[in-house]
Amino acid sequence: MNNDYLAKSLAFGGEIRIYAARTTELVNEANKIVAAYPTAAAAVGRTLTATVMMGGMLKGRETVTVRINGGGPIGLIIADANAHGKVRGYASNPRVHFQYDSGKLNVGMAVGTAGDLYVTKDLGLKDYFTGQVPLQTGEIGDDFTYYFTQSEQTPSAVGLGVLVSPENEVIAAGGFIIQVMPNAGEEAITTLEKSLSIIKPVSEMIADGMTPEDMIKELVGEGNFKILETMPLAFECNCNKEKFISGLTSLGNVELDEMIKEDDGAEAVCHFCMKKYQFTAEELEALKK
Ligand code: ZN
Repeated sequence: MNNDYLAKSLAFGGEIRIYAARTTELVNEANKIVAAYPTAAAAVGRTLTATVMMGGMLKGRETVTVRINGGGPIGLIIADANAHGKVRGYASNPRVHFQYDSGKLNVGMAVGTAGDLYVTKDLGLKDYFTGQVPLQTGEIGDDFTYYFTQSEQTPSAVGLGVLVSPENEVIAAGGFIIQVMPNAGEEAITTLEKSLSIIKPVSEMIADGMTPEDMIKELVGEGNFKILETMPLAFECNCNKEKFISGLTSLGNVELDEMIKEDDGAEAVCHFCMKKYQFTAEELEALKK
């Protein structure tokens, strides 16, 4: 059963916006597709969680794509989400695992910091927003905090957490994005700073059975917020054969002929969901110019 959802809320009479999400099932699904090692599963899970919450800030047919390329052994992490709670993502090398001495997963080591966090929002009608910031710690949550503050000029705090069992099962995943509105007063900010300094890690809160609303309550206190909307979240890939055809048409006749002669066709694999698409020699022949 899928219990993943996003809660959107306003706190302190609209001075603070908080999005909180439980993403355990969708992160587990992304993890199962590629059988990632725990640290890679956490890195991708944190990215999926932030991306799906950013999708929740969009409307209609708008989409958001996040790319993280820190030069670490995990390679490129890519995730995209729409405005309706659907997200997908993967890392180019999911077989990466590092731990701190404490046993905590060392996501920063896997991701690296020699690179950037890129955000592209497709706002429709060929209107794009792009933002880019250098990675701060590669722990992903800190990097999104820096992104919102620098690139979107919104003072923010982002908490992301994924708990993975030694058997590579995602036990708990979730996160929150807190955004300080320009009209925010001293009291709201002080309350938030105080709760952020004592709050438990997100993965622990989710593992303890806390809901997104419970996390918001932990952050701002009972009675200080109202929930505007909740939205179910899920891992979903929207790939189809048509999209791969456009990739194949970019190949020249020589390459297409090679596939026809040597392989009697071609097979394309979607990196997001591992679905395979077969192309017969006849289909490839039809793509020749
Ligand atoms: Zn796919």
